[in-house]
Amino acid sequence: MTDLRQHAIEVHEQFSDELDVGVDEVEERLETLVSDYRVPIEEARRSVISTYLDEADMEREQLSDGDQAAEVADIDEPEEWLDLTAKVVELWEPRADSIAQVGLLGDETGTVKFTKWAKSDLSELDEGAVYRLGNLVTDEYEGRFSVKLNSTTTIEEVDEEIEVGDDATEVEGAMVDIQSGSGLIKRCPDEDCTRVLQNGRCSEHGEVDGEFDLRIKGVLDDGGEVHEVIFDQEATEALTGIGLEEAQEMAKDALDTEVVVEEMRETVLGRYYRVSGPTLGRYVLANETETLEEAPDAEGVLIKARSL
Ligand SMILES: [Zn+2]
Repeated sequence: MTDLRQHAIEVHEQFSDELDVGVDEVEERLETLVSDYRVPIEEARRSVISTYLDEADMEREQLSDGDQAAEVADIDEPEEWLDLTAKVVELWEPRADSIAQVGLLGDETGTVKFTKWAKSDLSELDEGAVYRLGNLVTDEYEGRFSVKLNSTTTIEEVDEEIEVGDDATEVEGAMVDIQSGSGLIKRCPDEDCTRVLQNGRCSEHGEVDGEFDLRIKGVLDDGGEVHEVIFDQEATEALTGIGLEEAQEMAKDALDTEVVVEEMRETVLGRYYRVSGPTLGRYVLANETETLEEAPDAEGVLIKARSL
């Protein structure tokens, strides 16, 4: 099914009791806006909803929202419309005028970032309060999901306690590979960027004077599945015993940064680790790392690790 069709079905559902319109007609209206007028789909959807609200002489609040109750752990696709009952775990400082509030929502299954647009004109959310939030739309950036409060969102504070769940993932297995971009790396010095430089260049800011950092992008194999894990500077030092200064010395002596990752490879490849932390796209970010003495009971892992 196309995206347009999906939106048309959802809009149609919202008006199915009030208006005598078919899904095709809704889709046509969306299509005209998106194809002929190059309007982004979300805006087209809002515009079509406004038109139908006028026709039905309804307020947004009266829209039947269908059954879209969800939990944070269900969020795995962008542009899905859903309702969440969640606690405002944290509020952050908005970085742009277009954003009214930004922070973290949580329920028993985990946490998710939220953004509330200034133009959506919604009431203020308080940190620590629990809300029933209707008609949020999901978004995705570099594998990380968020929800957006928009002009169709409903907010209702509820008298409910929520024990916010820990969405950390735990993986274990033998370290069977270290990916490129590991070891002693350089990052863009722009504090909002910090991209890893390729040959001294940031893909956003061009040639820059990079700042040294350490990291390992590793692959753990548990015998059945592989898990990609990122160790930051601190975790890398704990894992390999090589700190940033030492790594820079090594690279200076050898006139090559590759020596650092080579040394790390020797230390960690074939060893068993248990790693837990939040996920970012396909990676688990290592918050806690434990070295295991033995394989987590899968012989296959051992054979694979030794054959490297
Ligand atoms: Zn940059």
